[in-house]
Amino acid sequence: MRKAQHLIGGRWADSRDKRTFETVNPATGAALAEVARGSAADVDLAVAAAERAFSESRWAKDPELRAACLRRVAEGLLRRQADFVQIEVLDTGLPITQAQGQAARAAANFTFFAEMATQMTGETYPQPGRFLNYTVRKPVGVAGLITPWNTPLMLESWKVAPCLAAGNSCVLKPAEWSPLSAVLLGEAIAEAGVPEGIFNIVQGLGEEAGAPLVAHPRVPLISFTGETTTGQTIIRSGAEHLKRVSMELGGKSPVVVFADADLNRALDAVVFGVYSLNGERCTAGSRLLVEDSIYPAFIERLARRVAAISVGDPTDPGTEVGPLIHKEHLKRVQAYLKQARDEGATVLVGGERPPGLKSGNFLAPALVTDVQPEMRIVQEEVFGPVLVAMPFHGEAEALSLANGVRYGLAGYVWTNELTRAHRFAHALEAGMVWVNSQNVRDLRTPFGGAKDSGIGREGGRYSFDFYTETTTVQVAIGSHAIPKFGVHPD
Ligand code: NAD
Repeated sequence: MRKAQHLIGGRWADSRDKRTFETVNPATGAALAEVARGSAADVDLAVAAAERAFSESRWAKDPELRAACLRRVAEGLLRRQADFVQIEVLDTGLPITQAQGQAARAAANFTFFAEMATQMTGETYPQPGRFLNYTVRKPVGVAGLITPWNTPLMLESWKVAPCLAAGNSCVLKPAEWSPLSAVLLGEAIAEAGVPEGIFNIVQGLGEEAGAPLVAHPRVPLISFTGETTTGQTIIRSGAEHLKRVSMELGGKSPVVVFADADLNRALDAVVFGVYSLNGERCTAGSRLLVEDSIYPAFIERLARRVAAISVGDPTDPGTEVGPLIHKEHLKRVQAYLKQARDEGATVLVGGERPPGLKSGNFLAPALVTDVQPEMRIVQEEVFGPVLVAMPFHGEAEALSLANGVRYGLAGYVWTNELTRAHRFAHALEAGMVWVNSQNVRDLRTPFGGAKDSGIGREGGRYSFDFYTETTTVQVAIGSHAIPKFGVHPD
């Protein structure tokens, strides 16, 4: 791919002002493509095309059409899975085996929401002999979908599939550090017969292309996934037009390992949960809390595993961790590690450029110990292959440490004591908790975060709560009393 353009009203287009930016391969630093650098003028055109398609095509009114098209999108993604995987690996540095999993998941999202399209039911509230009340769900209109650079295809499918299934049209603004798989997605959506203008893409930087989409008066809903601070900016600028927002934001999720847990399985899950997807995973278990009686032995085993993770060329099926997305991001992660060292923490394993990998944004997976709860590396989302570990004494301390950050996206608990498992899961301040489990998600379940990790839930029918407008219809089926104003006995 040499060029990545906007998709507006079914046509691939350069920016009005012809500006572009370059996207690079994070494993080599080589330029991959010239990407259209969108601005307000391009956003205006895309929103107008989306509005037209929403009101003039059958899309909003025909769930069967939507189901059939979305099924074909899923088939297209699977048919072209190798292309998607190749582009995603080159553009993001995701190890190839993990990119394959993400592409399959993207297809699964479209299959799942294709089925949901025909199940967009309302509710009834009968009031016998007097009224029948029922609700209808309707698409809202043009949705602005803004996505981050980690697992871009999968996260785009996570928004696009339910948004379209509900009958909306949309403008997708992919992240500037990983813009390429969106182009293939646009092709797959067009090939599937989705009416032109229902799905549009405006490429570009957050402030130049994302901000005008958020501020646009005729885009009533914004689904955003990204950093908490960006989410705050978006909420502020959407306030003028009272935008409906869904916010899927950052995380610093705890993994709590009690001494009675199955420690072999817990160890596997801890390592995979933070270092998979290059550590660039919103639900990463990036804070490990281990019961003090087993802490030294567990950390010793963990350190051996982390040191043995294979880091390198993401196109090699043997690679477990690839490069970080961008050299700026690598610098940011390195700065967290430096500050942690300066504050007295120990980088027990990794944290440096792996020997033999002279170019590319590579970092050896890091395990950080001797940390204090208030340190930045414990409190803030690093979004890289960095795990902080600390011991706890007793359930109360574990809970206070686990909840002691501003985020509340996910939590992981490892214990074989049944009552404690549930008690702890309920007490965690998190949108999602996994007990004795790695991050396996059923597409029907709600996804989202508590505290500074987000607003709202998406997934399954919860996505429709966001992507539809509900109208309540109250119908008289008898003769209820109607007060008579203006009627006076003479
Ligand atoms: P980011 O906030 O920098 O950017 C996300 C998107 O917002 C990009 O497309 C960007 O161009 C756009 N953007 C930036 N400024 C904008 C503005 N003023 N107006 C409109 N759009 C703007 O996030 P990122 O660095 O791309 O992604 C990493 C973050 O995403 C991490 O914090 C991670 O936890 C989070 N994330 C959360 C989830 C979740 O479901 N909770 C999932 C994946 C990633």
